[in-house]
Amino acid sequence: MQARWYEADIERVIVTEEQIREKTADLAKQVAADYGSVNELLLVCILKGAVMFMADFTRELGRIGPPLELEFMSAASYGQGTTSSGVVRVRADLDRSIAGRHVLVVEDIIDSGLTLSWLLKYLASRGAASVEVVTLLRKPEAMRSAPPLKYVGFDIPTEFVVGYGLDYNERYRELPYVGVLRPEAGAAS
Ligand code: 5GP
Ligand code: MG
Repeated sequence: MQARWYEADIERVIVTEEQIREKTADLAKQVAADYGSVNELLLVCILKGAVMFMADFTRELGRIGPPLELEFMSAASYGQGTTSSGVVRVRADLDRSIAGRHVLVVEDIIDSGLTLSWLLKYLASRGAASVEVVTLLRKPEAMRSAPPLKYVGFDIPTEFVVGYGLDYNERYRELPYVGVLRPEAGAAS
């Protein structure tokens, strides 16, 4: 088989396609068990990075969990270069009221957790009955400063990763795995 174009840009794979598949099913089982008694669960995807995980997670949970509804939000945190500042601007808000609903935020990666802390307060202020988070990836910094996370896929090193929704300058989102870019490919680490 011909090598795919992006393989030349990836230094090493951190999480394989197979590992993502297994972990997603695993997380869906945990969530289904915890939300066994609710009538309905609202999944809130944080665009754009979480879009792949959202799609796969929703299908897994849909088979075994409560009825689901999906919402999408886009939030940008202002920061210097690659660091997040915790000051968040909502680019695309929720379409509907979340008052009284059980909300599960679906995230791609938690680094400092500043964006997430802001988001959790925001969702709580909108009157959600409960708010929890499922994230595919977590970096070590999150252990210190992020709010407690109930559902975490993989703890990964402090490196800049791309793939499976995560980008560098809007590229590499379509990769089926998560990997580290070669320095020549341009990512700051
Ligand atoms: P935090 O506020 O937790 O520091 O920032 C989290 C956000 O930063 C993520 O939602 C993601 O958009 C971005 N981010 C953090 N680490 C990485 C990474 O390794 N690769 C990419 N592509 N984005 C990252
Ligand atoms: Mg994100």
